[in-house]
Formats: sequence, C-alpha cells, structure tokens
Amino acid sequence: MKRVSVRPVSYAVVAILAVVAIWLTPSLEKKQVFPMEPVVVTRPGIEPADFMLSPLVVEASNTELVDTLAIAGVIHSSLYNALNESGVGVLPPSARHQLAWSLADIFEYKVDMSRDLMQGDKFHILVERLQKPNGAIIVNKILGARLGLANGHNPLEAIHFDSPAAVTSTGAGNGQYYDASGLSLRAAFLRAPVTFRRISSVFGLRKHPLFGQWRNHTGTDYAAAMGTPVRAIGDGVVIFAGVKGGYGNMIDIRHRNGMVSRYGHMRNFATGMHPGTRVAMGSTIGYVGMTGWATGPHLHFEIRVDGVAHDPKLALQSRSGEPIPANERALFQKMRAQTMASLTDVHLANVAE
Ligand SMILES: [Zn+2]
Repeated sequence: MKRVSVRPVSYAVVAILAVVAIWLTPSLEKKQVFPMEPVVVTRPGIEPADFMLSPLVVEASNTELVDTLAIAGVIHSSLYNALNESGVGVLPPSARHQLAWSLADIFEYKVDMSRDLMQGDKFHILVERLQKPNGAIIVNKILGARLGLANGHNPLEAIHFDSPAAVTSTGAGNGQYYDASGLSLRAAFLRAPVTFRRISSVFGLRKHPLFGQWRNHTGTDYAAAMGTPVRAIGDGVVIFAGVKGGYGNMIDIRHRNGMVSRYGHMRNFATGMHPGTRVAMGSTIGYVGMTGWATGPHLHFEIRVDGVAHDPKLALQSRSGEPIPANERALFQKMRAQTMASLTDVHLANVAE
C-alpha cells in the first residue's frame, strides 16, 4: 500500500486549512464601547439584599470588561459577613474578600475595622467590577464609599480622586481617597497596629475574648495568631524595646507630636529595634506573642500622652491628611457629588435612611 505518501498530503491539507481559517477570521476591534441599561438585582429572602448594577457605560476591549457596581448593606455580625451577603450574585467569593480588604485599606487611617464597627452600621460602596478574558471577576477600583457608623457623628466618606496635576507630572493616574471636605484620608497615623486581614475576629463573630485578669490597663487588645506582624502606627523613634513587667516584650515609639504608642506581649522584635531607631509608619516592629501577663497570643496596644494611657480611639481621632490643592477643589466637589449620587441610588432594605 502507499501508506507512506498519505502523511505529507494530510499535513499539507491541514496547513492550507489553517491558513484559510486565519485569513477568514476578522480582526478584533481594539476597543469597543457598549452602552448598557442599568440592571437592578434583587434577592428576596436575605436582608439586606438590595443592590444595583449601574453601569453607565461598559468599556470592552479584547481583554477585559469593566462596569460599575453599587453595593450597600447593613452590618449584623461583621463587615466581612455583610459584604459577603451583599455581594452574592454579583461578585464571586474571592472578590468579596478583596472588597472587604480594599475598604479596610481605604479607611485604615480612620476606622479600626476590628472594633469601631457596630451592629446596624451601614455601608455604600461604588466599585469597578472587572471581568478578565478567562471569565474571572475581580474588583478593580473603589470609586467611592460611605460608612455610616452608629456611634459616629457624620457618615465617613471616601472619594477616589485623580489629581490632574499629579496625572500630568507623572503621566499616570495617582488616585487617592479624600473625605467629604477634600482632605486626604491618608493621615499621620494608622488607626490599628495590626492589619485588618490579620485579625481573626473580623472574619468571625465580633466578639472579643478576654485575655487574663489584667484589668487595670487602658489599651486595646488585638487577637491575632502567634507571629502576626505588628506595625508602627506612625513615623517615630523607638524609646524603649525590652521586657517590662506584665507587658512582656514591649516597644514604645515616640511620635513627632509627643504622643507615644506602646505595643506589648510580643513574641519577638523585628531586627534593629533599639532605643533611637527610627521607624516609618506601617513598618514591622515585632511579632504577636503572649509574653508577660497574657493567656493567649494577642497584641496589647496603648496610646500614651504625657505618660498617661489614653483610649486609642479618641487619641487617634480627627487627624486628617493633606487637602486637595485649591485650584482642583471645584473639580473634586463635582466628582464627589456624582459619586455620592450614585451611592444614594442604592436603597437599603428595611433601613430608614
Ligand atoms: Zn491589653
């Protein structure tokens, strides 16, 4: 038989078909824009379950799809759980995780997500939802957010704003978050010495275990796994790093305004922690442990002014960052109005607004 000669022929046929197929395939448009009607999604049964898809324009390229999603909810057990509920059907679980973390990052100079939130607190978030070519959905950028805290005075706002000056000087967007009055949410101090995603209680019930019988201390205890990094809440200089009574392994950092932040019960310190060492905001100074009077791994955190411990929540309150330049404030207020209008479109079920 002439079996041998069949092979080259079939290869040639396949090659020709492939070339024809490539030739016939229309080239994809680089970028297409599809206007879309807003989509309202309701889920009876679970409350609060009122959110709205409000894409004004969907920009589609060959690679990804972006739309804008407004999500609102009421906190019953934890922020994470509330976001997890409100995002069902519009975001996959991984994106809901990501959204909780992003929100905590935006407000990390203002809100300690592990303890400032209470039952009944409300949140509204306007976020870009991005679908990748492989179908994976992620949250891209939070455009605006509002947190209505039951024990706060006014709702906290975060508006994403690209300063035109910053854009032209760097050639890229340099977006930051600002409050309602145009002050940057980045302040001189972080609200908590452990990042939100490291605190186990945030992801479960908001119930804080008691640690031992050390009652007469003014401070905040953060439940976290042994070895969790502890961060300096602001720029400063280490004035004590060693063992001190019930505090165990303790570090004191003096900040520019004279305030001292104190971190206790640590397992060990980061390298180079000695009196005189300069530390930057957010840098790791040590690791969570249970040295001193502690019955479980946790961080003891204090703010001291003139040698007296103060409630960190009050001591770290109302410290605002840099304002938007005067010549950009009108633009910012316009953007803020738009963002807040989009957020207000989302009504919360069973909640008096
Ligand atoms: Zn404590």
